Parts: sequence; structure tokens; C-alpha cells
Amino acid sequence: MIIMKKGATAEEIASVVHDLKSHGLEADVSTGEIRTVIGIIGDESRISATHLETLPGVKEVRLIETPYKLINREYSALFDGKTESRVVKVGKVNIGNCEPVFMAGPCAIEGKDQLMRIAEDVKAAGADILRGGVFKPRTSVHSFQGLGSSKEGAERALSWLREAGDKYDMPVITEVRGESHVDLVARYADILQIGSRNMYNQDLLIKVAAAGKPVLFKRHFGASIEEFLSFSEYIAASGNKDIILCERGIVPVGRGKNYTRYVLDLQAVPVIQRETYLPVVVDPSHAAGRRDLIATMSLSAIAAGASGLEIEVHHNAKEARCDGQQMITASELGALIESCRRVNRAIRDSGGDYTGYKCKN
Ligand code: PEP
Ligand code: MN
Repeated sequence: MIIMKKGATAEEIASVVHDLKSHGLEADVSTGEIRTVIGIIGDESRISATHLETLPGVKEVRLIETPYKLINREYSALFDGKTESRVVKVGKVNIGNCEPVFMAGPCAIEGKDQLMRIAEDVKAAGADILRGGVFKPRTSVHSFQGLGSSKEGAERALSWLREAGDKYDMPVITEVRGESHVDLVARYADILQIGSRNMYNQDLLIKVAAAGKPVLFKRHFGASIEEFLSFSEYIAASGNKDIILCERGIVPVGRGKNYTRYVLDLQAVPVIQRETYLPVVVDPSHAAGRRDLIATMSLSAIAAGASGLEIEVHHNAKEARCDGQQMITASELGALIESCRRVNRAIRDSGGDYTGYKCKN
């Protein structure tokens, strides 16, 4: 991190950027209330700190030890002097503020009527953002792959999602499963989701980041927190810091039955909040894989400090074409949102901002 002197001129900043480029490096320039800080993107061994410190306007060069630097809480403190978290704005919805945000909808968009009905119901239940899968990542090629499996189907399903979002005044989120989907999905969706299975797909991350829309980035079920954050850095390094990190469960252990699909790692929520300034949300649906645990785990996630939840909802889960076993009804969602808001308020009123990073309102 190149820390510029207070009052460093635009020319001095530009000349540091130019110097980095001449060494084959890129720059992340952040100007905050205190000063400008330039993050080096690329292989730092190409340049020496001693050289950089001789450039006009440079105060000092500081090493951030973690493999992720641009999303590090320490980085934002350098130029802003603040330790507040980033608020990702999606239309009128703020993710990362004091009030948790609820993203809800079907696992997969199955048809226009299904989506419109669920959209109306989740809106009435208090949801902020509508979800619906078009390109589904499935373990078996013989399972329903989402309407995105045909070109016309993808376009149609995405246009319904847009229409439902507009009609019920909710931003919409859907997954981008491959690089070839990015441009199409970005034309319709407000948030692009990168699914668990793609966490390690750095080319996809770079392409999704470049679409310039907020990204909901899911942790791989076998990834450590450090790996998760390191891969998030690919999105930030592509110039997009509107990243919402999502914990969705990691692989269970042992040989016997575990009773749940994955293990929801709620410790990840406060740990990530200490490490980065990005908002963290939780997906209890894919973690549990069973509807009777959704309420308990949602409340626990909010108590752990999550900035929001992504929950699968269906009016007729028995007939759902995927993940029926974990979908709740919209009226269950409504009760859950109420309880989550109460838990959130109780935690705040008790002074329990355990991470020490205050929300903004
Ligand atoms: C999803 O949210 O639709 C999904 C498939 O989740 P994950 O990538 O976490 O498995
Ligand atoms: Mn699902």
C-alpha cells in the first residue's frame, strides 16, 4: 500500500500510477477523507518499496500481510480513517447497514406464473430482494438444469425476473454459472451471484466484476475463510468493490449421518467482518438442506451479525423442480423476517456489536 502525503497532488498520484504500470503492475487508487492510498495490484516483487518511497508525494509504503489487501479492513482505515463497513447499494436497498436485508425467492425459475406468484408473496412477507435461479449448478446432468439450459429459455426467464422485480419493486439477483452468461445476466439482474462451485473460477470472477454490478460471492463448501477472501480479491482487483460475501455452509465431517446438507459456519460471519469491510450475508437454505432448520439458523445468523439472508421460498415445495426439501412458504418467511428484525434490534440495544465495527444508522 502506497500511502500518499496529505495534500498530494493529482499529478503526483498519476505519476505513481504511471510508475507502477511501467513495472507491469496495476493500481487501486482510493481517496478518502484523510488521504489517498494506492494499492498495488499484481506481483509486488517487481518493484521495491525503497524506490516507491523516493517518488514525489509518497509518504510511506506499507505491507499488508494478508493475501487479500484491497478488501482488507486495514486498507480502508488507511485512507478513510474509519473502521465502518462498506454499504453496498442496490437500488433503494442498502446491504451492510444496521438493518438486515432479506433476499428470497425460488431456487429455480420454473415458469412465469410461478415466479410472479412467489414475487408477490415474498414482497408481502417483507423481502427486500427477489432471487431466482436461471442457470442452475447441478450435481447430476440428469437433474433440471434451470430454464437457462436453452438460449430462448434463459432470455425468457431473465425477462420474467426483471418484470417481477419491477412490478413488486425489488432488485433482483440471479446466478452467473459461466463466463458466457455474464453479459446476458448483467442486462437483466441487479446483483450477479457467483455460486459456491465457482468460487475458485478466477476468470469468471474477473468477467463478472467487469460487468460493474454488485456481486454476491458465495464461499465454496470446501474453502477456508482465507481462500474465500483471497478469491474475493479478484473481484476487487478488477475494480469492483461492491461485493457481498455469502456463507452457505461447508462440508460436514465423519462417516455417519450428519442430518444436514452442509455445516453452516457462523463463526465465519464475525471473522470476515474483522478481516474485511465487506458485508457478509448467510444462506441457511443450502446450508441446512431442510426446511425445519431455516428459522433457527436464520435467527442465529442475524445474532452472529449477518447483514442479510438469502432464503429459498416456494408456494408448492412438493412440486418444485429443485431443492423442494429446503424451501419454506412465504408466510413462514414473513414470520421469520419479523423475528430476525427483533433479534437484530435486541442485539443492537444490548450494545452487542460484538465485532466492534459499528453500523451507520
Ligand atoms: C443457489 O443459491 O442457487 C445455489 C446453488 O447455491 P450454492 O452455490 O451455495 O450451492
Ligand atoms: Mn437451491
